[in-house]
Formats: sequence, C-alpha cells, structure tokens
Amino acid sequence: MSLMITDECINCDVCEPECPNNAISQGEEIYQIDPNLCTQCVGHYDEPQCQQVCPVDCIPLDPDHQESQDELYQKYLVISGKA
Ligand code: SF4
Ligand code: SF4
Repeated sequence: MSLMITDECINCDVCEPECPNNAISQGEEIYQIDPNLCTQCVGHYDEPQCQQVCPVDCIPLDPDHQESQDELYQKYLVISGKA
C-alpha cells in the first residue's frame, strides 16, 4: 500500500529528500506521493521514512492503493532495476 499526503501538509519540505524512491514531489498546493513509486520504503528501510520525519503526521496509508508486502517488494525490485 502506498502512502498519501493529506491537505494538512504545511509544505515544510523535509519528507522529499528522505524518500529512497523519489516518490515525493511538490504538487500544485502541497507535496504529493506517486503511488507507482512508493513502496512503503520496503527494500530500503523497516519504517516509512517520510512518516518518521513529518512534523504534522499527515502521511497515512492510502486506502485506494492496497498492496501486499510481497507486491511492495516486487515493486521495489522493478523501480531499482533489480527485477
Ligand atoms: S513510504 Fe518511503 S517510499 Fe513511500 S513516499 Fe514515504 S519515503 Fe517514499
Ligand atoms: S513532511 Fe509532512 S508537512 Fe512536511 S512537506 Fe512532507 S508531508 Fe508536508
């Protein structure tokens, strides 16, 4: 399951450089996560790095992008060119 950024985002910029998959970018008003690139940090870290650093806790799981741990790992392999 990818994560999503809610409209509580205060555009503090700290999450973007923490993402190992470059899934986070500045959107029109707030930061956004590309669900095709977010692996919940599977393959890189034990915990989602963006959630760890967000000062306002506005990065929940995205219920519209459900994936198993195995699917997330397969996505990581494809993104990182290891598949
Ligand atoms: S959970 Fe990890 S891969 Fe997904 S957006 Fe956050 S930092 Fe990037
Ligand atoms: S860390 Fe949180 S508040 Fe800061 S830009 Fe990212 S989502 Fe927005």
